[in-house]
Amino acid sequence: ACSGCITSAETVMLEKQSLDEFLFNLNKGKAVFVSLSPQSRASLAVHFGLSPYQMFGKLTTLFKSLGVKAIFDTSCSRDLTLVESCNEFIARYNKCNPTDEEKPKSPLLPMISSACPGWICYAEKTLGSYILPYISSVKSPQQTIGAAIKNHICQKLDLRPEEIYHVTVMPCYDKKLEASRDDFMFQSDSDGERITEVDSVLTTGEILDLIKLRSINLTDLEESPVDKLLSNVDDNGHLYGVHGSSGGYADTLFRYAAKRLYGKEIEGPLEYKTIRNADFREVTLEVDGKVVLRFALCYGFRNLRNIVTKIKSGKCEYHFLEIMACPSGCLNGGGQIKPMPGQSAKDLIHLLETEYSGSVLAADPFENPRIKRLYDEWLGQPGSEKAKRHLYTEYHPVTKSVTSQLQSW
Ligand code: SF4
Repeated sequence: ACSGCITSAETVMLEKQSLDEFLFNLNKGKAVFVSLSPQSRASLAVHFGLSPYQMFGKLTTLFKSLGVKAIFDTSCSRDLTLVESCNEFIARYNKCNPTDEEKPKSPLLPMISSACPGWICYAEKTLGSYILPYISSVKSPQQTIGAAIKNHICQKLDLRPEEIYHVTVMPCYDKKLEASRDDFMFQSDSDGERITEVDSVLTTGEILDLIKLRSINLTDLEESPVDKLLSNVDDNGHLYGVHGSSGGYADTLFRYAAKRLYGKEIEGPLEYKTIRNADFREVTLEVDGKVVLRFALCYGFRNLRNIVTKIKSGKCEYHFLEIMACPSGCLNGGGQIKPMPGQSAKDLIHLLETEYSGSVLAADPFENPRIKRLYDEWLGQPGSEKAKRHLYTEYHPVTKSVTSQLQSW
């Protein structure tokens, strides 16, 4: 989504994270872990006419046959991201409605979701530094699963972080850029080595290439039991998680804020109102005739350019924005499998949306037993010092070099 502003150094990083590099790193002495995004799982499932759960089981068989130790599910780390984001939103909202006269010192609302690297790349490189304080400082699900694996799960498995090679499977190329940010590296306690939370990112399309390259008949391939340590699969073999094709940020935070701040329990689906087009929708909560929560989904560059102009001019009324660079969100990411011959992009998205939500039991991230365990064993509380150290990040305005400014003249 952000290919227009990719530098040559970033192109090298993108090329490094390839299928060849992944295959090269297998069986080289490191424990290989794969974290699979639910959007990639849905794309492969629809392509092969399987359910997402069947696809998860078959990919587990495929990766384990190659020497991968475990295959996890980023729906699980997305719940961790959502719990921390709820906590951050409440803190920002409360600071913006101070009971005393003191006004917040930095721009806090609207809080903007941070899971889309296409949007982050655009904000850092193209918009001024005014926009960055609005962006949630909680890392994306890709990075929170990386942080969990390399800082906590490794200890449970008696491994050092440097002994792990962690690969994610994502619907988008920009996730490769995200994984290679300096902010998502930390120093090993044992020898000070720089450790990356995510060593390499493969797109959904690259997994299809792998299946073709190895001539794997996916339909005949057996399904293996999935690794439950960091996967949203219950004891009856059902996938569970939040609905929403790009992570359900607005949905989860809206329900949480309505309950925590105003004691309103919202049952059933939220009623989003279309504003300009299907990719810009809002939901509001009124209390005593006053709108107290106004959230929006804002997908695609056309919509996001409009909304940042409003933020800049101080005319944005939203408390939270789920911004995603791709029209229709992550199911439509540039790394997903393309439509079959004769199939329109619109039809494919419709199929993906149905499959994505239809096969997943809706569940509250706060009730997720895997997440509760991560807090019990590792993080303590949402917003704790440990959570801040491992799950939060910062954004940096990118000033163009003189050379690149001259080149663009
Ligand atoms: Fe990637 Fe999703 Fe953002 Fe598209 S919307 S650039 S797929 S993270």
